[in-house]
Amino acid sequence: MHDFIIDNATIYDGSGAAPRRGSVAIKGDRIAEVGEVKGEARERIDAKGLALMPGIIDTHTHYDAQITWDPFASPSPSLGVTTVIMGNCGFTIAPCRPADRDLVMRNLTHVEGMSLDALRTGTDWDFESFPQYLDMLERKGVGPNAAVFVGHSSVRTWVMRDGATKRTATDDEIAQMRGIVKEAMQAGAIGFSTTRSGQHNGEAGVPMPSRLADEKELMALSTALKDAGHGVLMMTKDSKATTMSSIEAIARASGRPYVVAALLHSNETPEATFEDLDAIGQARGRGGKLYGAVSPCPLNFEFTMHEPYVFEGLAAWRPVMEAKEADVPRILASKELRDNVKKELAVRARRMFNGHWHQMFVAQTAKPENRHMEARSVQDLAAQAGKHPFDFALDLALEENLDTLFTATLLNSDDDAVGRMMLDPNSMISLSDAGAHLTFLCDAGFGLHLLGYWVRERKLMPLQEAIRRITSEAAQIFGIKERGSIKPGMHADLLLFDPQTVGRQRAQRVFDLPAGASRLTTPAIGVHGVWVNGSKVADQGGIRKDAVKAGKVLRDFAS
Ligand SMILES: [Zn+2]
Repeated sequence: MHDFIIDNATIYDGSGAAPRRGSVAIKGDRIAEVGEVKGEARERIDAKGLALMPGIIDTHTHYDAQITWDPFASPSPSLGVTTVIMGNCGFTIAPCRPADRDLVMRNLTHVEGMSLDALRTGTDWDFESFPQYLDMLERKGVGPNAAVFVGHSSVRTWVMRDGATKRTATDDEIAQMRGIVKEAMQAGAIGFSTTRSGQHNGEAGVPMPSRLADEKELMALSTALKDAGHGVLMMTKDSKATTMSSIEAIARASGRPYVVAALLHSNETPEATFEDLDAIGQARGRGGKLYGAVSPCPLNFEFTMHEPYVFEGLAAWRPVMEAKEADVPRILASKELRDNVKKELAVRARRMFNGHWHQMFVAQTAKPENRHMEARSVQDLAAQAGKHPFDFALDLALEENLDTLFTATLLNSDDDAVGRMMLDPNSMISLSDAGAHLTFLCDAGFGLHLLGYWVRERKLMPLQEAIRRITSEAAQIFGIKERGSIKPGMHADLLLFDPQTVGRQRAQRVFDLPAGASRLTTPAIGVHGVWVNGSKVADQGGIRKDAVKAGKVLRDFAS
């Protein structure tokens, strides 16, 4: 007796093959039969007109802290995601000594836009080492399947304490760090992640620890995966400081796949991401297993001048980052800061914010008398006021105690370029950053956006190919066993959806984090059911109230 059978579905098995109509039978946590189904079931679901695919694997998330208070890693499962890979960019919360917990939370607040109140109230710190963290997640249970990178910044802080953000490591410290990475890999980490990006700063603008590592350290820690015999390397590279040849050298020495992030398209340097993808292709030709992580989503940020992350890639912005909160208004008002930022923006470069004031909008004003400015671009408003747009934005923010809410489209705004990047054979579709930047954006629905916007509306690629990219391809790159396709014997991670409507709604602000903190979310469109290991976790109403924690902490990967 099967537990349930989904009948009359258009089945996309994840392989990229053309779909076929039929039934899928589920018994326990596995797919039992596909196509012509024999036998009976306790429940039958008529999926006429709907498509059934493997659950989406989100390879770039930051749920490490959130999943300790919210086992469902919301909103991801409601958006069709059945497996999340956490700990990207080196920002894990394990390993961590009790004395360093508050520093780690303050850094996450800064670099990943998480509410400090929410982290302090919500995070369960019932672990110190990386293996203990995985054990804790297993004990508490998880909603989607979850895999975790061991993160460079955490490992560095563990070994070097205060020195982690100040200096290169000694040989002895590198050996200790390597030991911790090896221990984590043996305990079931999915790989080793790091960042070199100049955008990645912790509290008071101090660089995240991994940015202080030299080539020797990077090589030593990355090749720990060779000894482990499994796992993926992941780096958010810096557009200036990191060369593709250094990444290729590490990939070759470790023999492991290497995911290079974050290849987001900039109109300022429109060829840069394609040059990276070409370099990755050449490295592949020489035997390296490199993948360029690209995103189907425009990078839209929603922010106030309390947390102006978008400007933090600018050297001229450093005085604001280094200032005490009480001094920020004075610095924002200063002519010196404003002149320096304008001067820096006048030089073309590859960075997050490039002074595209027509793409920065006033989203919400704090004062009712300013409401007429909402939904208008900073460029237009500034022209009307006879001011430079930067002065206009800062003056408005200062007048409203920095509470003015702005939005800005920063990267990936050129659809033709973004489409070309996704079609590139050296790219991997990823970069939702789910669980991070909660106050600024929400791309947890990247998969639904791919299926709706890019496939149905823009016809970028066939539906079966788009599905392959975010299911079986992700599983294969990361060595995730028995997931990512609909075949007998595979785990029953499934997404039932309407291809005529699938997509995501516009971002909405909700106040459901610990301590009442807010986040942005994008409810799903056209999702009829999401199953993790045969258990229904979400339907048209989102994550189900009665959902059980059916996810597995993934600790065993293909070599
Ligand atoms: Zn990230």
